[in-house]
Amino acid sequence: MAGKLTLIVGPMYSGKTSALLSLVEIYALGKKNYVVFKPEIDRRYSSEYVVSHSGMKTSALVVGSSESLHARMRELDGEKVQAVFVDEVHFLDEGIVDVAKGIIDQGIDVFCVGLDMSYRQKPFVVTAKLMAVADEIVKKRAVCHNCGEYNAVLSYRTTNDIEGDIDVGGMEKYVAVCRDCYKILSSKKTVHPQQAD
Ligand SMILES: [Zn+2]
Repeated sequence: MAGKLTLIVGPMYSGKTSALLSLVEIYALGKKNYVVFKPEIDRRYSSEYVVSHSGMKTSALVVGSSESLHARMRELDGEKVQAVFVDEVHFLDEGIVDVAKGIIDQGIDVFCVGLDMSYRQKPFVVTAKLMAVADEIVKKRAVCHNCGEYNAVLSYRTTNDIEGDIDVGGMEKYVAVCRDCYKILSSKKTVHPQQAD
């Protein structure tokens, strides 16, 4: 029987990684065989652990590309892996879509966590394509940094020194905001996020 692909997406600080770690815990408690991957680019906390903002963590295999994730899975062939978890999947290349499909075809469940949009409200193509082929999508919200309502679906960059859509940064660079506050905060900036494209 084929496995299932589940995507957990949302803005910064929406508890995506915490949700992933809760799922990892279920497999760990059940003494199931699972693997946790994380992209090499993310060095915010610890390179060998997936760590949530609340401090939960699990050890992870660090991969630089979808191909190296694929290679690691081939090395684990025969170990009866039942689930694969991928944190920060938006940092991986689009090859992960076919790799994930191949893994679920082997009867392994795949859980991916990622940002759905950049701080410029542009969809991350990798996440969008994975959402298209997913069996289930969990879209998380965060508490709006500006108004305090639990309706933040956007990541907002608080500084203007920007290059590209992907930047690895913590609380000092990004906040989660609702759509209304995104507009309010953007209008106060000297450089509009949209105009910086
Ligand atoms: Zn708000």
